[in-house]
Amino acid sequence: MSLEFESWYLLVIPLFFALGWVAARIDIRHVMQESRAVPRSYFKGLNYLLNEQPDKAIEAFLEVAKMDPDTLELHFALGALFRRRGELDRAIRIHQNLVDRADLSQDQRMKALYELGEDFLKAGLLDRAESVFRRLESGSHAREALRNILDIQVLTKDWPQAIQTAARLEKLGCPAQNADTAHYYSEMAVAALLKDDFAAARAHLDEALRENKRSARAWMLRGDLEAKAGRDEEAIAAWRRLEEINPSFLPTVAERLVQAHIRLGRQEQVIVLLKAYLDRQPSPDLLHLVFQTVAEHQGWPAARQLAAEELKRHPSLRALDDYLQASNAVQPESVEGRLAQDLVHRQVSRTAYYLCGNCGFKARQFFWQCPACARWESIPPERVEHD
Ligand SMILES: [Zn+2]
Repeated sequence: MSLEFESWYLLVIPLFFALGWVAARIDIRHVMQESRAVPRSYFKGLNYLLNEQPDKAIEAFLEVAKMDPDTLELHFALGALFRRRGELDRAIRIHQNLVDRADLSQDQRMKALYELGEDFLKAGLLDRAESVFRRLESGSHAREALRNILDIQVLTKDWPQAIQTAARLEKLGCPAQNADTAHYYSEMAVAALLKDDFAAARAHLDEALRENKRSARAWMLRGDLEAKAGRDEEAIAAWRRLEEINPSFLPTVAERLVQAHIRLGRQEQVIVLLKAYLDRQPSPDLLHLVFQTVAEHQGWPAARQLAAEELKRHPSLRALDDYLQASNAVQPESVEGRLAQDLVHRQVSRTAYYLCGNCGFKARQFFWQCPACARWESIPPERVEHD
């Protein structure tokens, strides 16, 4: 029985080989047919490309493209490839050639122009990128072009123009830009505040809040403006708007609240207020400030008690750092206490950073706009402790 099975199997094996041979022949014939359909210049171009003579390659490919419009896609693919590899001068040459050709349809030329704009943008040639995108403001690539123009205006801090572009994008059906536009106005307010131009700063902040009445940044700046103008009551009222708008920013304004209250002689009141914030949400940054304020105005034993309680409720390295500092102040003779605080303090300053929720960018300082992904308000105001 087993012998019979084996001999049957032996018969089948050559048959498989034969089938494989036929399949291979068909494949080769198919390939030969295809290659005859491709013009010789194409192979010439590929050859130049492989020999690192991209300019000759491009010339050869252009010849192909002239003979057969279908190979346009080849150019777009090549251009995108060069751009991705960072060979921007080559990408620019390919796309510029496409733009200059007389035989392209309107749509194809738009596409080539758009790609050229992207090349300039990536090369950091912002003026040239913008002038290319300007040529696309109406038509099928209007939205992407305007989006890029907006990015350039934000990059060059041209806020008045950015505000106009954002409004045009909205008219083209893009998602609402109000939150970002409030930031553009806020940026203008910051610049005005730096020049002590209170009237201009106030006008920009009014606009910011008209765009986004829950803009934490605009309310914070409103407080800064009032404080700078010597109106501490109004400043405190503006900063306290964050209690209902966005409590996560309260630790950021806590220091300013403390200073304004102290100027008004109300240090005890601000300690009560900040402790209430701390009860609402744990925050090592806020704890540290309350801790310092308590130490300064109520003494180290009170500060140590505060840190001990907070350490129990929300254990963190920074709470421990505060606790050890207060302990050492109360018992200055403890050498071990000093050593421990030194260690913890060094660890704390090494591991705390701001983290972008969109791209994961880590920063030592807070940014309203992520320097890596350019998103606004993607970095939470509370630092992260882990590595
Ligand atoms: Zn980011």
